[in-house]
Amino acid sequence: MAFGLTEPDAGSNSHNLKTTARRTGAGWTITGSKYYISAVDQASAILIVARDADHSTPEKNALSLFVVPTDSPGLTYRPIDTSIVSPDKQFLVYLDQVQVGEEALIGVAGNGLRQVFDGLNPERILVGALCGGIGRYAIDKACAYAKQRCVWSTPIGAHQGIAHPLAEAHIAVELSRMATARSAEMFDAGQPAGEAANIAKFAASEAALKALDQAIQTHGGNGLSNEYGLSELWFVTRLMRTAPVSREMTLNFIAQTSLGLPRSY
Ligand SMILES: Cc1cc2nc3c(=O)[nH]c(=O)nc-3n(C[C@H](O)[C@H](O)[C@H](O)COP(=O)(O)OP(=O)(O)OC[C@H]3O[C@@H](n4cnc5c(N)ncnc54)[C@H](O)[C@@H]3O)c2cc1C
Repeated sequence: MAFGLTEPDAGSNSHNLKTTARRTGAGWTITGSKYYISAVDQASAILIVARDADHSTPEKNALSLFVVPTDSPGLTYRPIDTSIVSPDKQFLVYLDQVQVGEEALIGVAGNGLRQVFDGLNPERILVGALCGGIGRYAIDKACAYAKQRCVWSTPIGAHQGIAHPLAEAHIAVELSRMATARSAEMFDAGQPAGEAANIAKFAASEAALKALDQAIQTHGGNGLSNEYGLSELWFVTRLMRTAPVSREMTLNFIAQTSLGLPRSY
Protein backbone atom coordinates (compact mmCIF):
# COMPACT_ATOMS: atom_id res chain seq x y z
CA MET A 1 0.00 0.00 0.00
CA ALA A 2 1.26 3.49 -0.87
CA PHE A 3 0.85 6.36 1.59
CA GLY A 4 -0.82 9.58 0.41
CA LEU A 5 -0.39 12.48 2.79
CA THR A 6 1.55 15.20 0.94
CA GLU A 7 -0.23 17.68 -1.34
CA PRO A 8 1.04 20.54 -3.49
CA ASP A 9 0.09 23.01 -0.71
CA ALA A 10 0.49 20.70 2.27
CA GLY A 11 3.90 19.15 2.83
CA SER A 12 5.43 20.31 6.11
CA ASN A 13 2.02 21.61 7.13
CA SER A 14 -0.39 18.65 7.16
CA HIS A 15 -3.10 20.87 8.67
CA ASN A 16 -3.41 22.49 5.22
CA LEU A 17 -4.73 19.43 3.38
CA LYS A 18 -7.35 20.21 0.72
CA THR A 19 -8.26 16.67 -0.39
CA THR A 20 -11.75 16.26 1.04
CA ALA A 21 -13.86 13.25 1.97
CA ARG A 22 -17.64 13.66 2.15
CA ARG A 23 -20.07 11.12 3.50
CA THR A 24 -22.56 9.70 1.04
CA GLY A 25 -25.33 7.20 1.77
CA ALA A 26 -23.11 4.23 0.97
CA GLY A 27 -19.70 5.44 2.18
CA TRP A 28 -17.53 8.38 1.13
CA THR A 29 -16.62 10.50 -1.91
CA ILE A 30 -13.04 11.75 -2.03
CA THR A 31 -11.79 14.61 -4.22
CA GLY A 32 -8.37 16.26 -4.33
CA SER A 33 -4.76 15.69 -5.33
CA LYS A 34 -1.60 14.32 -3.75
CA TYR A 35 2.00 14.66 -4.83
CA TYR A 36 5.30 12.86 -4.31
CA ILE A 37 3.45 9.67 -3.48
CA SER A 38 5.90 6.75 -3.76
CA ALA A 39 5.30 3.49 -5.58
CA VAL A 40 1.68 4.08 -6.60
CA ASP A 41 2.30 1.98 -9.73
CA GLN A 42 3.28 -1.00 -7.53
CA ALA A 43 0.52 -0.58 -4.94
CA SER A 44 -2.93 -2.10 -4.93
CA ALA A 45 -4.21 0.73 -2.71
CA ILE A 46 -3.21 4.12 -1.26
CA LEU A 47 -3.78 5.09 2.37
CA ILE A 48 -5.23 8.53 1.67
CA VAL A 49 -5.24 11.20 4.36
CA ALA A 50 -8.19 13.49 3.68
CA ARG A 51 -9.94 16.47 5.20
CA ASP A 52 -13.16 15.14 6.71
CA ALA A 53 -15.91 17.55 5.60
CA ASP A 54 -18.26 16.48 8.44
CA HIS A 55 -15.78 16.91 11.28
CA SER A 56 -13.89 19.99 10.03
CA THR A 57 -14.74 23.55 10.97
CA PRO A 58 -13.65 26.72 9.10
CA GLU A 59 -10.96 27.16 11.81
CA LYS A 60 -9.73 23.58 12.04
CA ASN A 61 -9.32 20.67 9.63
CA ALA A 62 -10.21 17.23 10.98
CA LEU A 63 -8.60 14.43 9.02
CA SER A 64 -9.69 10.86 8.25
CA LEU A 65 -7.79 7.93 6.71
CA PHE A 66 -9.09 5.81 3.83
CA VAL A 67 -7.82 2.78 1.96
CA VAL A 68 -8.42 3.70 -1.69
CA PRO A 69 -7.76 1.00 -4.32
CA THR A 70 -5.48 2.31 -7.10
CA ASP A 71 -7.89 1.02 -9.76
CA SER A 72 -10.84 3.05 -8.37
CA PRO A 73 -12.81 4.95 -11.03
CA GLY A 74 -11.77 8.63 -10.78
CA LEU A 75 -8.25 7.88 -9.44
CA THR A 76 -5.46 8.69 -11.90
CA TYR A 77 -1.73 9.23 -11.46
CA ARG A 78 1.36 10.23 -13.36
CA PRO A 79 5.06 9.97 -12.50
CA ILE A 80 7.22 12.88 -11.32
CA ASP A 81 10.66 12.96 -12.90
CA THR A 82 13.37 12.99 -10.18
CA SER A 83 17.11 12.26 -10.02
CA ILE A 84 16.63 9.58 -7.35
CA VAL A 85 17.93 6.10 -8.22
CA SER A 86 15.59 3.73 -6.38
CA PRO A 87 13.07 0.98 -7.15
CA ASP A 88 10.25 3.39 -6.29
CA LYS A 89 8.98 6.16 -8.53
CA GLN A 90 7.01 9.13 -7.18
CA PHE A 91 3.61 10.16 -8.46
CA LEU A 92 1.09 12.93 -8.67
CA VAL A 93 -2.28 11.42 -7.78
CA TYR A 94 -5.64 12.91 -8.72
CA LEU A 95 -8.86 11.88 -7.00
CA ASP A 96 -11.96 13.01 -8.84
CA GLN A 97 -15.06 12.06 -6.84
CA VAL A 98 -13.65 8.67 -5.96
CA GLN A 99 -16.27 6.53 -4.21
CA VAL A 100 -15.27 4.23 -1.35
CA GLY A 101 -17.42 2.14 0.96
CA GLU A 102 -17.77 2.45 4.73
CA GLU A 103 -15.10 -0.26 5.18
CA ALA A 104 -12.46 2.02 3.58
CA LEU A 105 -12.30 4.21 6.71
CA ILE A 106 -9.37 3.38 9.00
CA GLY A 107 -9.80 4.03 12.71
CA VAL A 108 -11.99 6.87 13.91
CA ALA A 109 -13.36 9.50 11.51
CA GLY A 110 -11.86 12.93 12.22
CA ASN A 111 -8.99 11.49 14.26
CA GLY A 112 -6.70 10.84 11.28
CA LEU A 113 -3.88 13.21 12.17
CA ARG A 114 -3.26 11.51 15.51
CA GLN A 115 -3.44 8.10 13.81
CA VAL A 116 -0.97 9.20 11.12
CA PHE A 117 1.45 10.53 13.70
CA ASP A 118 1.34 7.17 15.50
CA GLY A 119 2.73 5.64 12.31
CA LEU A 120 5.38 8.27 11.71
CA ASN A 121 7.69 7.35 14.58
CA PRO A 122 8.45 3.84 13.24
CA GLU A 123 9.00 5.39 9.80
CA ARG A 124 11.63 7.71 11.34
CA ILE A 125 13.29 4.79 13.08
CA LEU A 126 13.32 2.94 9.76
CA VAL A 127 15.04 5.91 8.10
CA GLY A 128 17.61 5.83 10.93
CA ALA A 129 18.33 2.17 10.16
CA LEU A 130 18.44 2.75 6.40
CA CYS A 131 20.86 5.67 6.77
CA GLY A 132 23.04 3.69 9.21
CA GLY A 133 23.37 1.05 6.48
CA ILE A 134 24.19 3.56 3.77
CA GLY A 135 26.77 5.23 6.02
CA ARG A 136 28.50 1.95 6.84
CA TYR A 137 28.44 0.84 3.20
CA ALA A 138 30.01 4.13 2.04
CA ILE A 139 32.73 4.08 4.69
CA ASP A 140 33.56 0.42 3.93
CA LYS A 141 33.93 1.23 0.25
CA ALA A 142 36.05 4.29 1.00
CA CYS A 143 38.38 2.38 3.33
CA ALA A 144 38.85 -0.47 0.86
CA TYR A 145 39.75 2.05 -1.83
CA ALA A 146 41.97 4.15 0.46
CA LYS A 147 44.00 1.07 1.44
CA GLN A 148 44.88 0.12 -2.11
CA ARG A 149 45.03 3.39 -4.04
CA CYS A 150 48.59 4.83 -4.15
CA VAL A 151 49.13 8.26 -5.69
CA TRP A 152 52.47 9.00 -3.97
CA SER A 153 54.56 6.57 -1.96
CA THR A 154 51.82 5.38 0.47
CA PRO A 155 48.17 4.36 0.07
CA ILE A 156 45.97 7.48 0.20
CA GLY A 157 44.41 6.17 3.46
CA ALA A 158 47.71 6.99 5.21
CA HIS A 159 47.15 10.72 4.56
CA GLN A 160 45.34 12.26 7.51
CA GLY A 161 43.42 14.43 5.04
CA ILE A 162 41.70 11.20 3.95
CA ALA A 163 41.83 9.17 7.22
CA HIS A 164 40.47 11.73 9.69
CA PRO A 165 37.29 12.67 7.82
CA LEU A 166 36.57 8.94 7.43
CA ALA A 167 37.17 8.36 11.14
CA GLU A 168 34.83 11.26 11.96
CA ALA A 169 32.22 9.93 9.56
CA HIS A 170 32.49 6.50 11.21
CA ILE A 171 31.95 8.03 14.67
CA ALA A 172 28.88 9.95 13.48
CA VAL A 173 27.38 6.89 11.75
CA GLU A 174 27.95 4.64 14.79
CA LEU A 175 26.46 7.26 17.14
CA SER A 176 23.42 7.48 14.91
CA ARG A 177 23.09 3.69 14.94
CA MET A 178 23.07 3.76 18.76
CA ALA A 179 20.37 6.43 18.68
CA THR A 180 18.37 4.34 16.20
CA ALA A 181 18.67 1.18 18.31
CA ARG A 182 17.60 3.14 21.39
CA SER A 183 14.54 4.59 19.64
CA ALA A 184 13.56 1.13 18.33
CA GLU A 185 13.89 -0.33 21.83
CA MET A 186 11.67 2.42 23.26
CA PHE A 187 9.09 1.98 20.51
CA ASP A 188 9.06 -1.81 20.97
CA ALA A 189 8.61 -1.35 24.73
CA GLY A 190 5.57 0.87 24.10
CA GLN A 191 7.28 3.93 25.58
CA PRO A 192 6.81 7.40 24.05
CA ALA A 193 9.45 7.37 21.29
CA GLY A 194 8.78 10.66 19.48
CA GLU A 195 11.89 12.48 20.66
CA ALA A 196 14.15 9.44 20.31
CA ALA A 197 12.84 8.64 16.79
CA ASN A 198 13.35 12.22 15.64
CA ILE A 199 16.86 12.36 17.10
CA ALA A 200 17.73 9.06 15.36
CA LYS A 201 16.30 10.15 12.00
CA PHE A 202 18.09 13.51 12.13
CA ALA A 203 21.45 12.14 13.27
CA ALA A 204 21.43 9.21 10.85
CA SER A 205 20.42 11.19 7.76
CA GLU A 206 23.07 13.85 8.42
CA ALA A 207 25.73 11.21 9.19
CA ALA A 208 24.93 9.09 6.11
CA LEU A 209 25.13 12.04 3.75
CA LYS A 210 28.43 13.19 5.22
CA ALA A 211 29.85 9.65 5.07
CA LEU A 212 28.74 9.23 1.46
CA ASP A 213 30.21 12.60 0.50
CA GLN A 214 33.54 11.68 2.12
CA ALA A 215 33.51 8.26 0.43
CA ILE A 216 32.98 9.96 -2.95
CA GLN A 217 35.80 12.39 -2.14
CA THR A 218 38.10 9.51 -1.18
CA HIS A 219 37.52 7.97 -4.60
CA GLY A 220 38.61 11.14 -6.43
CA GLY A 221 37.12 11.21 -9.95
CA ASN A 222 36.09 7.57 -9.61
CA GLY A 223 33.63 8.60 -6.90
CA LEU A 224 31.44 10.05 -9.62
CA SER A 225 31.57 6.96 -11.81
CA ASN A 226 28.60 4.60 -11.61
CA GLU A 227 31.05 1.69 -11.57
CA TYR A 228 32.04 2.44 -7.94
CA GLY A 229 28.48 2.27 -6.56
CA LEU A 230 28.52 5.54 -4.60
CA SER A 231 27.27 8.40 -6.75
CA GLU A 232 23.97 6.65 -7.53
CA LEU A 233 23.19 6.75 -3.79
CA TRP A 234 23.59 10.51 -3.62
CA PHE A 235 20.01 11.66 -4.25
CA VAL A 236 18.30 8.90 -2.32
CA THR A 237 20.51 9.71 0.69
CA ARG A 238 20.01 13.44 0.17
CA LEU A 239 16.26 12.75 0.16
CA MET A 240 16.42 11.59 3.79
CA ARG A 241 17.15 15.16 4.87
CA THR A 242 13.80 16.19 3.34
CA ALA A 243 11.48 13.18 3.65
CA PRO A 244 9.57 11.66 5.32
CA VAL A 245 10.07 14.74 7.49
CA SER A 246 12.45 17.60 6.71
CA ARG A 247 15.43 18.38 8.90
CA GLU A 248 13.88 21.78 9.68
CA MET A 249 10.61 20.27 10.92
CA THR A 250 12.59 17.78 13.00
CA LEU A 251 14.52 20.65 14.57
CA ASN A 252 11.24 22.50 15.18
CA PHE A 253 9.88 19.42 16.97
CA ILE A 254 12.97 19.10 19.19
CA ALA A 255 13.06 22.85 19.89
CA GLN A 256 9.39 22.91 20.86
CA THR A 257 8.78 19.59 22.60
CA SER A 258 12.21 18.78 24.08
CA LEU A 259 13.37 22.32 24.84
CA GLY A 260 10.01 24.05 25.36
CA LEU A 261 10.85 26.88 22.96
CA PRO A 262 8.03 28.92 21.37
CA ARG A 263 7.06 28.29 17.74
CA SER A 264 7.25 30.79 14.89
CA TYR A 265 4.37 29.39 12.82
C1 LIG B 1 11.27 11.10 -3.25
C2 LIG B 1 10.14 11.52 -2.37
C3 LIG B 1 9.25 10.55 -1.92
C4 LIG B 1 8.16 10.94 -1.13
N1 LIG B 1 7.23 9.99 -0.77
C5 LIG B 1 6.08 10.39 -0.15
C6 LIG B 1 5.00 9.46 0.06
O1 LIG B 1 5.10 8.27 -0.28
N2 LIG B 1 3.86 9.92 0.66
C7 LIG B 1 3.72 11.22 1.05
O2 LIG B 1 2.65 11.55 1.57
N3 LIG B 1 4.72 12.13 0.85
C8 LIG B 1 5.89 11.75 0.25
N4 LIG B 1 6.90 12.66 0.01
C9 LIG B 1 6.70 14.06 0.39
C10 LIG B 1 7.59 14.51 1.54
O3 LIG B 1 7.11 13.97 2.76
C11 LIG B 1 7.60 16.05 1.54
O4 LIG B 1 8.34 16.45 0.38
C12 LIG B 1 8.20 16.65 2.78
O5 LIG B 1 7.37 16.39 3.90
C13 LIG B 1 8.39 18.17 2.67
O6 LIG B 1 7.22 18.77 2.21
P1 LIG B 1 7.30 19.76 0.93
O7 LIG B 1 8.06 19.08 -0.15
O8 LIG B 1 5.91 20.22 0.60
O9 LIG B 1 8.15 20.98 1.43
P2 LIG B 1 7.59 22.39 2.06
O10 LIG B 1 6.58 22.10 3.13
O11 LIG B 1 7.16 23.24 0.88
O12 LIG B 1 8.90 22.95 2.70
C14 LIG B 1 9.94 23.58 1.92
C15 LIG B 1 11.11 23.92 2.85
O13 LIG B 1 10.67 24.83 3.88
C16 LIG B 1 11.00 24.28 5.16
N5 LIG B 1 9.97 24.66 6.13
C17 LIG B 1 8.62 24.56 6.01
N6 LIG B 1 8.02 24.97 7.14
C18 LIG B 1 9.00 25.34 8.00
C19 LIG B 1 9.03 25.83 9.34
N7 LIG B 1 7.92 26.03 10.04
N8 LIG B 1 10.23 26.08 9.91
C20 LIG B 1 11.40 25.87 9.21
N9 LIG B 1 11.44 25.42 7.95
C21 LIG B 1 10.26 25.13 7.35
C22 LIG B 1 11.01 22.77 4.96
O14 LIG B 1 11.76 22.11 5.95
C23 LIG B 1 11.65 22.67 3.57
O15 LIG B 1 13.05 22.75 3.68
C24 LIG B 1 8.01 12.30 -0.75
C25 LIG B 1 8.94 13.25 -1.19
C26 LIG B 1 9.99 12.89 -1.99
C27 LIG B 1 10.94 13.96 -2.49
